[in-house]
Amino acid sequence: MKIAVVGIGVAGAYLMNQLNDDHDNNVVGFERMSESQHDAVCAWATCKNVMLDLTKKCGLNFEDYVMHSGKYMKVNLDSTDKNERSDNFIDIRLKGMVIYDKIRLIQDMIRGTKVEFGKVPRKENLETDFDVVVDSTGFHRNYLPKPQEEFWIPCIQYKVKYDADKVPFSDFYLKAFPAMAGYFWYFPLGNGYAHIGAGDFERKQNNRFVDEFLSRHKCQIIKKVGRPVRISPPKNCEPFTDGRKVIGVGESIGTVYPLLGEGIIPATWCADILVRNLNDKEKYRKEVLKKFKIYSTVFNFIRSKIDHRFNLLKSPYRLLKIYNHMKREENRYGMEIRISDMIKVSKI
Ligand SMILES: Cc1cc2nc3c(=O)[nH]c(=O)nc-3n(C[C@H](O)[C@H](O)[C@H](O)COP(=O)(O)OP(=O)(O)OC[C@H]3O[C@@H](n4cnc5c(N)ncnc54)[C@H](O)[C@@H]3O)c2cc1C
Repeated sequence: MKIAVVGIGVAGAYLMNQLNDDHDNNVVGFERMSESQHDAVCAWATCKNVMLDLTKKCGLNFEDYVMHSGKYMKVNLDSTDKNERSDNFIDIRLKGMVIYDKIRLIQDMIRGTKVEFGKVPRKENLETDFDVVVDSTGFHRNYLPKPQEEFWIPCIQYKVKYDADKVPFSDFYLKAFPAMAGYFWYFPLGNGYAHIGAGDFERKQNNRFVDEFLSRHKCQIIKKVGRPVRISPPKNCEPFTDGRKVIGVGESIGTVYPLLGEGIIPATWCADILVRNLNDKEKYRKEVLKKFKIYSTVFNFIRSKIDHRFNLLKSPYRLLKIYNHMKREENRYGMEIRISDMIKVSKI
């Protein structure tokens, strides 16, 4: 079978790696960025406990890519305070959350496969040349019909470098924005490097907060990027296919955990589901909807917070459901989940 994988992010790279081994397939990857500019626009945080197994399937050892292993994540819940010296915070104990070299892992996953860089192929050409066209273009979703209901958070991010004595935080730091419309993050990359960024649905806080932080904590700016993250769950991102040859995978079909804006593990899981169901689109669709069912509950909770419709006393069940899910899956999320923290976060 001739397969085109369009978009070489986490999902596309995993597919290239896994499908390439099957000698019945002729797989070609396409990436719009040139090879030297190919990057992973993302804060690079993930959970080691899950990634170890996923990378093992690709013949790689996730430990080789870890840049920082988190112990605690400080979450500032003060919606009025502009700076990070607030008393209103929670400390979340981390158990597997790390920062890893995302682009190097992508490059190693696609090693030995055929990828054409600097190419945005036309849909008509793909349809003529291939039996299956995978849309793994993430937020762009260029080759699929528009989803039923779009919801995304605009984000900006800087890669920076601090002198050893000026590093603002030695571990993960977040500041939640009012009504859970987004958050600011500081994620250490080791050796004084960090990703500093923010996403805010209201578009009020992200630029201002990051600018203020950067002017308070002077550093060398290495790179600035901007890209939205889609948080509408798979159920709202149907159709997953164009009814002909194209099939979507990863963030293009909404596999991002809406509470955290976390998409690395879900996109890779989604790619893994596609590998197992490449010949049966309906089975793939059903499995994706089942796997990511809880994302709809979480998304509806976030929407109700942003729209100021959430009332903990009137409807505690939604929050309880999310708590139960994350508590059960602490190892998957790589952090200790406490009901007291969830309640505090839900009140901002
Ligand atoms: C600022 C920011 C920070 C984030 N931080 C985290 C984090 O710390 N942890 C986490 O788990 N998730 C994070 N996410 C979410 C996560 O990055 C994504 O959900 C995840 O990478 C999606 O994987 P994907 O493979 O589906 O798509 P992507 O990783 O977005 O890959 C898509 C690829 O397709 C290419 N492409 C796009 N259009 C075309 C085209 N027409 N033709 C060819 N190529 C194309 C792109 O260049 C890209 O390489 C973050 C998102 C943002 C925006």
